[in-house]
Amino acid sequence: MLSSNLLTWYDSHARILPWREEPTPYRVWISEIMLQQTRVETVIPYFEQFMKTLPDVQSLAEAPEPVVLKLWEGLGYYSRARNLQKAAQKIAADFGGHIPSEYDALLSLPGIGAYTAGAVASIAFGKRLPAIDGNVLRVMSRILGSQTNITSPTGKEEIRRALEKLQPHDRPGDFNQALMELGAVVCLPGKALKCADCPVRPHCMGFSFDIAHALPVKPSKKERRIEEKTVLLIRCQGRYALRRRPKSGLLSGLWEFPLLESHWEAEACAEECRRLGLEVQTLTALPPAKHIFSHIEWHMRGYFILAENTDCTENWVWATPEEIHAHYSIPSAFKKYRQLLEEDIL
Ligand code: SF4
Repeated sequence: MLSSNLLTWYDSHARILPWREEPTPYRVWISEIMLQQTRVETVIPYFEQFMKTLPDVQSLAEAPEPVVLKLWEGLGYYSRARNLQKAAQKIAADFGGHIPSEYDALLSLPGIGAYTAGAVASIAFGKRLPAIDGNVLRVMSRILGSQTNITSPTGKEEIRRALEKLQPHDRPGDFNQALMELGAVVCLPGKALKCADCPVRPHCMGFSFDIAHALPVKPSKKERRIEEKTVLLIRCQGRYALRRRPKSGLLSGLWEFPLLESHWEAEACAEECRRLGLEVQTLTALPPAKHIFSHIEWHMRGYFILAENTDCTENWVWATPEEIHAHYSIPSAFKKYRQLLEEDIL
């Protein structure tokens, strides 16, 4: 049987991960949200710190938003952090502070979609429900040898029906985790798959028809839009200018170094600073940097500007590198430039 082969393999091969050691509903929920679009190795230290600072629903519900965003700094997709807090507040208000075990109740919480509701209900509460993420879609489409586009409703439904038959009544949560684990370490994307090490190989149509490497079937990706930006690291008396991004849109509400649209030449940048009321002492070009979002790429050019004054026409805050480190959530799009501050080499 596929599911018993898979569970036997999982019992001896599963990676030891902090949320698996103690799978309380809160820990499972937080880890599942963190793991969306993010690698396990990246998530572990964030998860540990989050649990230390906000160990339960109540503390998350009551935390000031900047504290939650600071804990999320660098993980990206910040709406996940905001939704976590909104969901904790709803759990406190509507569910007596207890994370609900029912799929529909979980689905009613901000930031929880079908996948997360299935994962929390099955892993933390032992409900027999599928949790279908990108890894599971890939593994299942290979096992079925499916030629249906997995991003289509038909493709997803095909996989959901297959899982309904395969998921055992005992250990449904482990079954879901085992499939995800298989996708993460054995049934890897593209040609990196390791069929020789796979516990479900005897049941895999993709393997027996020798088509697994070409699966899953997906529509070709849209090209990302390229946006040019100019980042200004403006320092005055050991403090750097920061501004808050708008309340809606990409990276909303987070902090950033002043950012100009398009690529600016050095002299034009200095002129712009003077127009804003800053006296520019020196201006130095920094190396270019690139950041990739899901649909956009930022191609950045940067300048380090030493200014004589901070009183300009802009509503910026001025903070030392230590204050930035402790209090301001700066998205990882600015990581390379921020590193220059932290290494104190400007
Ligand atoms: Fe994936 Fe190969 Fe295992 Fe099939 S046999 S599930 S294609 S690793």
